[in-house]
Amino acid sequence: MTPLGRAQASALGYVLFISVLLNGGLAMGEESKCYGTTSNGYLEGGVKLPANGSNFTPYSSLARMIGRTYVHSSVLSTVVEAYERTAESLPETVFVYGETGFKNGGEFRPHKTHRNGLSVDFMVPIRNKEGKSIPLPTSVLNRWGYDVEFDDVGSTADFSIDYDAIAEHLYQLHKAALRNDIEIWRVIFDPELQPMLASTKRWQYLESNLEFSKRRSWVRHDDHYHVDFEVACDPIP
Ligand SMILES: [Zn+2]
Repeated sequence: MTPLGRAQASALGYVLFISVLLNGGLAMGEESKCYGTTSNGYLEGGVKLPANGSNFTPYSSLARMIGRTYVHSSVLSTVVEAYERTAESLPETVFVYGETGFKNGGEFRPHKTHRNGLSVDFMVPIRNKEGKSIPLPTSVLNRWGYDVEFDDVGSTADFSIDYDAIAEHLYQLHKAALRNDIEIWRVIFDPELQPMLASTKRWQYLESNLEFSKRRSWVRHDDHYHVDFEVACDPIP
């Protein structure tokens, strides 16, 4: 290698090193550590959800860049595996994930939970008027999807919630959680829209394996479903 080649190689090494730092990536196999609860806790060694996949995108690349999509390492594996399986079972369906939390957890406004790497918001999968699966439109104008308002069956003038896709996704999330030795503690989704899930083919499984919110929460969960995973966390020291 010429001296110039060495300089280039070390510059490249430096760039790689910096990009690992910026991405907050952990070495392979290293585990995050969570403390406390989703509403009073924090996280060590949080990892970022991927920038995209074959069937999913983040609600905002900018929000991801500034660090609002970190999770516990077991949650990361679970979320990615579930998307992979869903790509096989529903190859034409696209998904959008929402906010998760900061690298070190802690208070995450405007959310009341999302504090220890175990909470993930998934924006609802939707179909347009032609029946095609499209990503939920997210921009600053609708507060990255969180301001989309659906009617009482889950439709807007332009698109409708794809309940089969939600049910399949939740089914794959639960299966992936078990493979990663974690659980799903609860799913928060608008109680008025939940009955629409009952006609999906995964309902029987979901009903007997997942805990759905029964009451309306502080903000209407019609544009996203919030999933709290269950991981053995240490108490706050
Ligand atoms: Zn949430």
